[in-house]
Amino acid sequence: MSGGGETRRVGQVKEVTSLSNPIVKDIRSLAMKKFRDQQNAFMAEGLKLVIDAIDLGWTIKTLVFAKAQRGNATVEKIAARTVASGGLVLEASEKVLGAITRRDNPQMVLGVFEQRWTALKDIRPTDSDVWVALDRVRDPGNLGTVIRTVDAVGANGLILVGDTTDPFSVETVRATMGSVFAVPVARASAEAFIAWRAAAKATVVGTHLKGSVDYRTVDYARGPVVLLMGNEQQGLPDELAHACDQLIRIPQAGRADSLNLAVATGVALYEIRRHALPTVGKD
Ligand code: SAM
Repeated sequence: MSGGGETRRVGQVKEVTSLSNPIVKDIRSLAMKKFRDQQNAFMAEGLKLVIDAIDLGWTIKTLVFAKAQRGNATVEKIAARTVASGGLVLEASEKVLGAITRRDNPQMVLGVFEQRWTALKDIRPTDSDVWVALDRVRDPGNLGTVIRTVDAVGANGLILVGDTTDPFSVETVRATMGSVFAVPVARASAEAFIAWRAAAKATVVGTHLKGSVDYRTVDYARGPVVLLMGNEQQGLPDELAHACDQLIRIPQAGRADSLNLAVATGVALYEIRRHALPTVGKD
């Protein structure tokens, strides 16, 4: 498995100290999309994230923890769960952890998980469901923030339209703060999305700087909603704008041309979900 003398087995845990260890090389390669896709895997850092992911039923391929965590009961429990589900457990030196995470102060625990995508055809919005669709989102921080916000407002999930940044990149996963494990994500070409929306029984609400409807005046409680957001630089192309039932605008008063994509998504989502969110103090 390891192919190198630098891997030492301690019970079911392998000790790794060398950056040339092939398993370490595989994990480090997950920094690149090509290798994430090849391995159908991605990396998440932090003990809480790893526990949440396993609790939510995600498949852990490899658990890596720092030598200093040996004897930590929580880490040992999660290591046992990893082994029980067929995963690999590595005890790594700080040097190895730092190289994997590309950080000077790396997290003490990280997990390599199988990627999970929701098929667009399986998304059939009903009742008061809310899905967010992002057109060609480019920035990993924006994507991660949107995933976190979709989770926070209790929306159903996300559809990535066209050529987008990868939800499983290290930067995006970090920005989701764990919500990547709670939010179903689908992907589709613009054509497939337009075909899907024609069959879906949902109101598609696009956001547009030229939108003629104030986002606060729409009754979002009447049925399922798909909130469609435009690309950071170009906004929504005409073909997608025409596929919307409404084009809403968030009014602005200052000098800024537009809101940041993730901020605009958050503002719109809180309005769309307003009727469904508990009142603070009564929740
Ligand atoms: N130059 C781009 C344009 O002309 O649309 C700006 C895009 S903006 C940074 C990214 C996306 O955020 C927009 O496509 C839209 O979905 C949303 N957005 C930002 N500000 C908005 C606003 N005031 N009203 C509605 N949507 C907004």
